[in-house]
Amino acid sequence: MGERVFHFAKERKKVYELAYNLRWAYDCPTQQFFAKLSPRVWDRSNHNPIAVLNEISEEELRSRLLDETLRIDLDNCYESLKGYLERVGKTSESLKRFSKKPVAYFSAEIGIHESLPIYSGGLGILSGDHTKSASDVGLNFVGVTLFYRQGYFVQRINSDGWQLEEYRQQDYHGLPITPVADEGGNLLKVQVEVGNSLVSVAAYKAVVGRSVLYLLETNLPENEEHYRDLTARVYGGDSTTRISQEIILGIGGAKFLKAMEYEPSVYHMNEGHSAFLTLELLREELLAGTHLSKAVEMVERKCVFTTHTPVAAGHDRFTRDLMNFSLSGFVSSLGISLDQIMGFGRVQPEDKDETFCMTVLALKMSRAANAVSELNGRISRKMWLPLYPGRKAEHVPIGHVTNGIHSLTWISTEANELYRKRIGLRWQDKLVRPRDWATAILKIQDEEIWALRYALRRKLIEFIRQRMRRQQTRFGNASDWVEKSLSADALTIGFSRRFATYKRAPLLFTDIERAARFFGDPKRPVQLIFSGKAHPRDDAGKTFIQQIEHLTRDPRFTGKVVFVEDYDIGVARQLVSGCDLWLNNPRRPLEASGTSGQKVILNGGLNCSVMDGWWREAYNGKNGFSIGEDKDVSLPVEQQDSADAASLYEVMEKKVIPLFYDRDASGVPLKWIKTIRESIKTIAPVYNTGRMVNEYISKYYSEK
Ligand SMILES: *Cc1c(COP(=O)(O)O)cnc(C)c1O
Repeated sequence: MGERVFHFAKERKKVYELAYNLRWAYDCPTQQFFAKLSPRVWDRSNHNPIAVLNEISEEELRSRLLDETLRIDLDNCYESLKGYLERVGKTSESLKRFSKKPVAYFSAEIGIHESLPIYSGGLGILSGDHTKSASDVGLNFVGVTLFYRQGYFVQRINSDGWQLEEYRQQDYHGLPITPVADEGGNLLKVQVEVGNSLVSVAAYKAVVGRSVLYLLETNLPENEEHYRDLTARVYGGDSTTRISQEIILGIGGAKFLKAMEYEPSVYHMNEGHSAFLTLELLREELLAGTHLSKAVEMVERKCVFTTHTPVAAGHDRFTRDLMNFSLSGFVSSLGISLDQIMGFGRVQPEDKDETFCMTVLALKMSRAANAVSELNGRISRKMWLPLYPGRKAEHVPIGHVTNGIHSLTWISTEANELYRKRIGLRWQDKLVRPRDWATAILKIQDEEIWALRYALRRKLIEFIRQRMRRQQTRFGNASDWVEKSLSADALTIGFSRRFATYKRAPLLFTDIERAARFFGDPKRPVQLIFSGKAHPRDDAGKTFIQQIEHLTRDPRFTGKVVFVEDYDIGVARQLVSGCDLWLNNPRRPLEASGTSGQKVILNGGLNCSVMDGWWREAYNGKNGFSIGEDKDVSLPVEQQDSADAASLYEVMEKKVIPLFYDRDASGVPLKWIKTIRESIKTIAPVYNTGRMVNEYISKYYSEK
């Protein structure tokens, strides 16, 4: 000991390399290393390694690294990163075709980690998990999105239960991203026509394992004030802001990749927001002298498109006036008329009254398209039938790839430890082989599963109490009810996601007396944790939050129903590990896939969901609980809501609660654990982004 020569510069370099590769977002030991460097900053910065490094001085870092045990941690993390990069860098035969020509993935939001808040919800998390799994499987992958300096928003709930939005400015210096420079070391910029102005666009690079993301940014001194703020907020502003953001994302993104000399083999548009990229590719073809119809064909050959939105009203649409205003400069450089362009975004190209729809553009300009679950595929084919006259709905060329989650991102440290101990250090490799996986999990004992559940529930309750204390002290009435609320032995239900009204957060309280009955049963305690943000302009969603806030103050529910402020990836990670039951009750078929329920599986949580999205594919009668029927009905919404509420009460009273409290002599709920086992066995190896990305590779990225 002590003999090892200490090279500060060398050690420091390792620390920075670790911090600037967001692989740490799915590697617990690396997170723990940075947390140890400064627990205080780690906590305050929402778990951001760069913030930790910025706060401690060089001297402090040196003296911390003199500590042998910390240096061993550092070495282990560093070796683990190197090993990972080497492993995923060994390109398999089927992926060789991408090694010079990457997959370019465009998404309006990408959620990698809570400290990089450039996402609002499920779509963003899906993109982040896609990015991570692309790295895991060794796919050459570049993602393009926007750098939202102010993120989505920080959510506060006022004393009346109403959501308030706070915006905080982020600076790239404090984040694990670096500005992209040209050969001369200057900021690399491309010019994009927005309206009649030229807007400069720069980008930051984020490295996620082997994947690379570019976050586009317009906050540059040469841009006029209103263009500087264009990329400030996720889905902020009106339709003019919206179309401008989408011009930056699609056209700016395609230009930026070109400026960096990428030659993507395929452009994957995740939802229609980025579909203007096809117009930029079209411009390149036209400039090269290609005839229009041939040019469209060339663009089509390079693009694939994923649609998520199952209702016509949910798709981005722009009027001709707005298109004329926002694309005037761009259109004049294209050499074709605005009406020709309008035609690309219309079901009936000649219909002057039809608005321009980004989904239509994406569908027309892609060689293949998919929805994100089997049912969502069916709905989408029906919805877009008019685009393919003369076909039957089942022959509309929209397939489906059901969404998944990145397992290592969402698993708790405790569950990970258990799988490592019982199955092996690389247990997750078995997730791609359902049969091996089924055998592997037999090595875990019932008692171990139950002990894990208790530990995770307890940890979640600690986390929530801490958050409640913070929420309480802001109102100056910190009381001892926080300490008395929630119990580590009670059936713990989670409901957390965006507060879009179709997700029907308060459904369980449709009949408040009935709900009060089972929440009030002292022998079989039940508790429910809510969290989630409503879009700033969605007053109906905010009213749902307020309703729930008021419930938390109703004596029948106080201490049993809680609302945790400011839902984000970090809060989600805690909730999906600690909850016993994950509740999902959207109005079918509006949940295109949903993914949050997939995150509970490896942690031993169970799903209780309406038969919508991914759940109706995964549910087998023994691996969780279903609400309502797997059947297309078109009742008026009020009737649909009351039928689903009735079904939900039945399931809670007759199935969930009795099963959880059916204990053996030593207090273990054997049948509940059997359900957990079945859930881990059948769901974990399918509903993950490893399977999902492989499916995209074989069905969509590889040209037929
Ligand atoms: C997984 C996740 C979502 C998606 O939740 P759904 O229930 O599938 O809509 C939204 N927000 C965050 C922070 C998540 O982690």
